[in-house]
Amino acid sequence: MNRIVIAGNRRLEYTLIQTVRASVLFQALPEGAIRVYAPRGMRLRDIDRMVRERADQLLQMGKAVDRKLSEDRRNHPVSDGSTIMIEGVPHVIRLSRAGRVRGEVRDGALCLSLPKPEDDPSVRAAIRAVLSARALERIRERLDHYAPKVGRTPGRVAIREQKTRWGSCSGKGNLNFNWKLIMAPPPVLDYVVIHELCHLWEFNHSPKFWSLVEQQMPEYKVWKKWLKAHAEDLYL
Ligand SMILES: [Zn+2]
Repeated sequence: MNRIVIAGNRRLEYTLIQTVRASVLFQALPEGAIRVYAPRGMRLRDIDRMVRERADQLLQMGKAVDRKLSEDRRNHPVSDGSTIMIEGVPHVIRLSRAGRVRGEVRDGALCLSLPKPEDDPSVRAAIRAVLSARALERIRERLDHYAPKVGRTPGRVAIREQKTRWGSCSGKGNLNFNWKLIMAPPPVLDYVVIHELCHLWEFNHSPKFWSLVEQQMPEYKVWKKWLKAHAEDLYL
């Protein structure tokens, strides 16, 4: 049976399973689900109280379960036939064996040949290499498109694996971009390109800076939000 307890300002729903056992067992499941096994005959209000007392702990346990799950998903996306997002479109990963690493994006697939297609770290490295090259190519293209409109020319342009940043602009006007942007829908990459180009005028996030961004991309807020909401989906 499902029960609800209120702990502070939180509402905890849990599934109670009454069974033949001597003690109470608390279990955290994915997406905030809680399961409680309790000895048959134990009073409901006592069980509720125990859940309430452990509210923090149960929520922490749930978060840990979710973290572990998303980590696992992150750790196993690269077998033959699994998919990866490229420019906002799911592509099938095709792995084959070959003497040296080669890769290309073709017909909705990411085709990779490599000496050890069964070795996860090698596959991952190959994907990263192929997609980083594609990201750099695409970013240069978009910089060429937007730089004259913005009226600034960037210095050196590089691709970086950055954990928390999508792009950055140095004091010297060099721009760095996260290769994972190539997984996002194209307007997201455009937004980051425009954002960094506008830093060549305004080295801050002032209203003046945002109005420059808006001049180039009136709907930029949509893609800025998209990036924030989907940051976790752009992984390898
Ligand atoms: Zn910025």
